[in-house]
This record gives sequence, structure tokens and C-alpha cells, in this order.
Amino acid sequence: MGSAWALDWVRRSADVIAEHRVELITLDREIGDGDHGENMDRGFQAILPKLDDVAADATPGDVFKLVATTLISTVGGAAGPLYGTAYLRGSGAIAGAEALDGAAVAAFLTAARDGIVARGKAEPGDKTMIDAWTPAVDAADAAAAAGASPAEVLAAAADAAAAGSDATIPLVAHKGRASYLGERSAGHRDPGAQSTAYLLRAAAEAAA
Ligand code: ADP
Ligand code: MG
Ligand code: MG
Repeated sequence: MGSAWALDWVRRSADVIAEHRVELITLDREIGDGDHGENMDRGFQAILPKLDDVAADATPGDVFKLVATTLISTVGGAAGPLYGTAYLRGSGAIAGAEALDGAAVAAFLTAARDGIVARGKAEPGDKTMIDAWTPAVDAADAAAAAGASPAEVLAAAADAAAAGSDATIPLVAHKGRASYLGERSAGHRDPGAQSTAYLLRAAAEAAA
């Protein structure tokens, strides 16, 4: 799995975020400031024209570095720097590799999650995107350790991220704007956990 997959993932990400833009805005309106769908859509739409200039010999890591710098410079709010750091650290974990096996995919996801934690200091259960990323990383690690293919690793990660997003609904937020609501944040899905679930599903679909 190489840069063709990486490029397809980015294009599918832009599609899925555009498709769910209003839903992500609605989720963020319930426990935040209502801009998550707009922020993410702006960032991924800004990446699309840049993909045409990606060199033919670019590695997946090169593609993700482009994603990182674009998200950091175009997405405001918490999610821009957090996702930007994720793609940047993930890119570093697979730097130079032209083809990724299951273990490399798991290493990419682990580094991405660790970057978000380093930047945002959220712990599992704080009702953030980390609650989708962490089960995804755990599932990816387990699948890779069992010798799964890259596509199987990504499918396991996507399923776990979706379940992790569902599991944010009853939680009380302890990080980000939703934490200002205290107990009233319970009963709502975290928008960043849901965008993570969409992005990882797009990664799995690009690999399938
Ligand atoms: P903002 O909250 O600045 O308007 P967004 O609406 O784009 O930014 O993103 C909100 C999402 O960012 C939340 O739903 C949550 O998943 C995530 N988030 C916020 N703060 C943190 C943090 N410290 N660590 C991890 N994720 C966070
Ligand atoms: Mg917001
Ligand atoms: Mg905002």
C-alpha cells in the first residue's frame, strides 16, 4: 500500500467531510461553538488542489506531511493543530517508506494519536477525538500483531473508531469547549470523535 492509497484516502476524506459537514456543525453546536464541520471542510478542500502537484515519486509520508501543513494553516480552532500534529507525527513514523505493511499502518496511527495527546493533553474518557483514536490504535496494533494486511488493519481501526465515537455520547467532557458545559455535555456525541471515525473509515475504504 503506497502513495496511491494515501492520495485516495485524502480525496475520500475531503468527500466524507463535505458530505457530513452539516452533521459535524450540528454536533459541535450542541456542545461547542458549531464550527467543527466548517473547519474540517475548509481544511480538506484546501488540500485537494495541492494533490495535483504531488511528485510521482512521493511517499505516503510526503502526502501526509502536505495534509499536516495545510490543516495547520487553514483549519482554525482546536481541531486544526490537533489533526495537523496527527498527520505530521504519523508522517514521521513512516518517513521514507514507499510501501506500508500492516505494522507500518499501525505505527502511523499510533504516532498520529500520540501527537494529538502531546498537543492537547487529553486522556481517554475526556470526551474528545482521543476516544476514537485510542481504540482505533489498540485495534490496529492487535490486528498488525496477528499478521493482518494493511487493509485489514485499517478496517479494524475504522470499526473501533466508530464504536469509540458512539461511546463518547454518555461522557462528561473534560477537555475543549465542551468541558465548559460540565455535566450538560453528557448525552451528546463528541464532534471530533465523529470526524475521526469518518476519516479512518475513508482510510479503510481507500485500502479495500
Ligand atoms: P473548536 O473547539 O476550537 O471550535 P473544533 O470545533 O474544530 O474546534 O474541534 C472540536 C473538537 O476538537 C472536539 O470535538 C474534540 O474532539 C477536539 N478537542 C478539543 N480539545 C481537545 C484536546 N485538548 N485534545 C484532543 N481533542 C480535543
Ligand atoms: Mg468548534
Ligand atoms: Mg471554534
